[in-house]
Amino acid sequence: MTTWRENIRRVEPYVPGEQTKDTDVIKLNTNENPYGPSKRVKEFVDNPDMLRLYPELGASKLVNALAEYHGVKPTQVFVGVGSDDVLAMSFLTFFNSDKPILFPDITYSFYDVWAELFKIPYERPALDENFRLVKEDYYKENGGIVFPNPNAPTGIFEPLAQVEDIIKNNPASVVIVDEAYIDFGGETALPLIAQYDNLVVVRTFSKSRSMAGLRIGYAIGNEELIKALNDVKYSYNSYTMNRPSILLGIESIKDEEYFRSNIDKIVNTRKRFVEAIKPLGFTCLPSSANFVFATHNSIPAKEIFEAAKKAKIYVRYFDMPRINNYLRISIGTDEEMDTVVKFLKTYIK
Ligand SMILES: *Cc1c(COP(=O)(O)O)cnc(C)c1O
Repeated sequence: MTTWRENIRRVEPYVPGEQTKDTDVIKLNTNENPYGPSKRVKEFVDNPDMLRLYPELGASKLVNALAEYHGVKPTQVFVGVGSDDVLAMSFLTFFNSDKPILFPDITYSFYDVWAELFKIPYERPALDENFRLVKEDYYKENGGIVFPNPNAPTGIFEPLAQVEDIIKNNPASVVIVDEAYIDFGGETALPLIAQYDNLVVVRTFSKSRSMAGLRIGYAIGNEELIKALNDVKYSYNSYTMNRPSILLGIESIKDEEYFRSNIDKIVNTRKRFVEAIKPLGFTCLPSSANFVFATHNSIPAKEIFEAAKKAKIYVRYFDMPRINNYLRISIGTDEEMDTVVKFLKTYIK
């Protein structure tokens, strides 16, 4: 006898870093930005019509602001509820071949979840021993390509020439470059969009713009790809961008000076933190992101992770092959990182 159980879509959901209710922890496990968004954003929250009115369907004000900021046409911009929404919509829209899509063995752990959910075949070429992308692995037949640059959770940035080679060698596939961390280091692939019609660049307001709670992400690509994305979105759930996200997103874009100074602070703290833990026996991969991926020369990462948690310092540990002796530590304020260094000094001695 068949039962309804056989017809349920079964997936292993994505597991994000722990969101604790404790307010006295140093939370360095989900790459949030320690500094709030621009004052413009905070002041605009009081706008009397912010919550009362329906959002406009196409979020065109935000789309226009992003288009102007990046020097592209509004028809080249797609917005969504966080870049997770934008990426999921992109998988659904662009990855419909019988051939496997390709993404690295070590990367953002949502990619395989979406591939499973949407029943997209996939292969995961291994990064080399230094966790670098091997571009030739992406020159075989495939149904699409996706990778973050800088990569997560390694923080490693691949030079634009490397990225361009992958795009150039795959004219029959859509290549998605997930630039969640690009503002903290590296060079954006956005200028390549004018040259390659198979490139989609995905961005988020969650990390560099300190707005993870609002859920704003976007994609930029050629008009045909963006139209396809919008057609899929409006065939599924149209009114997803809420009014505060649209209006506050625009305010954030208007304050470029704050945006730059916020990023400078994090990049400086990152350098300072890497130098401070080196003498304690840690090695960090070269990071172009707002986190570092660190391993210790004698103490297993899992033990440090658990001890830190007891000391109310939350970092991220992935119990996965090749990276199970690493900790991903988000960069907080100088003060927070000093507390982490102090803890490590006492713990390791
Ligand atoms: C954080 C992150 C995202 C998702 O961010 P949103 O908050 O959904 O915008 C996407 N890709 C990578 C690589 C990330 O680290």
